[in-house]
Amino acid sequence: MVYDVLENKIEFLKGVGPRRAAILNKELQIFSFGDLLQYYPFRYVDKSRIHKVTEINSDQIYYQLIGRVSELKSYGEPRTTRITARFTDDSGSIELVWFKGLKWVKTRFTPGQQYVLFGKASLFNGQYNFVHPDIEDYTPQLVPVGESLEGVYNSSETMKNNGLGSKQLTKLIKKLLLQVQQTVPEVLPEKILTQHKLMPRALAFQQIHLPSDAPSLEKATKRLKFEEYFFFQLNLLLRKKSRERIKNGVLFSRVGKLFHQFYAENLPFELTGAQKKVIREIRHDLATGHQMNRLLQGDVGSGKTIVALMIILLAIDNGYQAALMAPTEILANQHYQSLKHLLEGMPVNLALLTGSTKARDRKPMFSSLADGSLHLIIGTHALIEDKIQFHNLGLTIIDEQHRFGVAQRARFREKTDKPPHTLVMTATPIPRTLAMTQYGDLDFSIIDELPPGRKPIKTIHLFQSQRLRLLSFMRKQLAEGRQIYIVYPLIKESEKLDLIYLQEGYESLLRDFPEPDYRICVVHGQMKSEDKDFEMQRFIKGQAHIMVATTVIEVGVDIPNASVMVVEHADRFGLSQLHQLRGRVGRGADQAYCVLMTDYKLSSDGRKRMDTMVRTTDGFEIAAVDLELRGPGETTGTRQSGQVELKIGNLLKDEKIIRHVRNVVNQLLDEDPKLAQEDNIRTRNYFDKKFRQQFDWSEIG
Ligand code: ADP
Ligand code: MG
Repeated sequence: MVYDVLENKIEFLKGVGPRRAAILNKELQIFSFGDLLQYYPFRYVDKSRIHKVTEINSDQIYYQLIGRVSELKSYGEPRTTRITARFTDDSGSIELVWFKGLKWVKTRFTPGQQYVLFGKASLFNGQYNFVHPDIEDYTPQLVPVGESLEGVYNSSETMKNNGLGSKQLTKLIKKLLLQVQQTVPEVLPEKILTQHKLMPRALAFQQIHLPSDAPSLEKATKRLKFEEYFFFQLNLLLRKKSRERIKNGVLFSRVGKLFHQFYAENLPFELTGAQKKVIREIRHDLATGHQMNRLLQGDVGSGKTIVALMIILLAIDNGYQAALMAPTEILANQHYQSLKHLLEGMPVNLALLTGSTKARDRKPMFSSLADGSLHLIIGTHALIEDKIQFHNLGLTIIDEQHRFGVAQRARFREKTDKPPHTLVMTATPIPRTLAMTQYGDLDFSIIDELPPGRKPIKTIHLFQSQRLRLLSFMRKQLAEGRQIYIVYPLIKESEKLDLIYLQEGYESLLRDFPEPDYRICVVHGQMKSEDKDFEMQRFIKGQAHIMVATTVIEVGVDIPNASVMVVEHADRFGLSQLHQLRGRVGRGADQAYCVLMTDYKLSSDGRKRMDTMVRTTDGFEIAAVDLELRGPGETTGTRQSGQVELKIGNLLKDEKIIRHVRNVVNQLLDEDPKLAQEDNIRTRNYFDKKFRQQFDWSEIG
């Protein structure tokens, strides 16, 4: 293995040491020289421009001024808490304020001398001032002629308090660059560098931190983005290609008895054209001998479950077992109930496994899984636990788990000799750039049609002051025999408070809708799962009219008679969550409604979310607005799952470059599938290191 200076531990960089290293570890996940080198400025300021005091009209941009400091005043006696001064140039003057380092400030300035001030203005009581500006003695050489871009780094409060603010980070990075400049290894193939006119890696690191001018900064950015997407795509395309190349997939060669019987006798409705198309696509995959890895997208209510069931029957017909995994117990339970119902009278053994399955039920379940007598297991994450062994797992279906990454999908694979076919189903529309980065190893299918007879859900936004309108609307709906969901936010940080809101809401509902005429059930994440189940069942069976819940019902739950969804504090939910919640209604033939309740006062984001929900039911349009408002990581929860962690790329803006890089990698792998040519070896070595040897090159024949 070649020594790579960038792997040196960060604490060994001069000026860092163990204490600051610990802070860098914790705050920024910076552990090595390389990590620090890839901590890029989030913005650049141009230090060549000298402003005038009278030009200051924004607290958003940085200003550089030249002038004199006078009228130093101390506040607070005997212990000074604040010092102010005036900064004056030939256009006017502005106040300076310090709260810290006051001793130093007191003796810092010589009357009459000129200083260079640099900082962001603050707006205080309608007046601009500078709080803790950077000030240096003025010498004519100090002010650069021509453009001079300086990087600004994000740093947390803890970092600033420990000498790791933007300025100090700049210093450290400068030192680091000096030390490693000569030894930073190139990782892309020479041919690709020349062909696409990419800046060498070492120079790119230099220029991204300390740009000589704007064009060089642009070139450095381009190079580093290219590299970042390159290795992402390499990881995805290697997997995709090796899957396509090798015939180690389970063969579902025939359409057998179960499939036909179900189609003829049990299918409760005519499949939509889109459902038929998708089943055809999947059947095609299953008969090729290659392993299927497919993402099935279909908006809420488009009917993915029945597609899953029919594919499961294909697997069983061909002598294999199938697993269906859902993100929550409620959803797993519901799948179990509804599949059991759909399969009535058919010789299929199925079981439900979740975290709350009792030990004494587990034992026989595990042994029938291992001997093959259990055909289908439905459950939560419990399904990928190590203990579980299959006789011959041929198919795994992962429902509503778009957060499930490449590595997690691979866990099912360890449970059999042959990799099982995998179908990932999601109702969350995935923007194209994200699809290419996070799911670039999968094939895609889309159900782009809803079952017939669905009326678009009517969405209304009401303020708290209009609650009486809500109540009378609810009474009318209940009188017509409908059921109603009322959802409260439950967000981790404020769980206690949120539960109080939910509790209060529940109590006031009890007053507005008293027993015995009305029955209300409650479901939230902190209840025992038996209690949750019990309450769910009351609602499903129609014994309760109103369900008060948190987002535990967000995904998948399917109760056709529930046609009204009320969302309390709706502005505290993200758009995709609201869309999911709304998707819980409108599943029967009745007109469905979604009511979004908020305070009159809303943030501009909040207002935009409400307006979007009222305007459209199109999941893709909603996803687009969501991406715009929140950025890609937040939109799909990928930030937490650590899937697409980009250091420099930006999924909002980079569609073109991602597409380009994907083509480049595709071509490279066509020419040299194992990256064994001399020019490509460094790329392969770096890839192995970066992805910790996860890819098995011997799979490529
Ligand atoms: P999702 O794609 O959100 O998982 P489901 O599979 O839960 O959707 O289906 C939503 C509802 O539509 C269910 O009640 C299901 O029985 C019904 N459904 C599915 N396909 C059809 C169809 N072709 N015709 C009529 N109803 C259907
Ligand atoms: Mg579903």
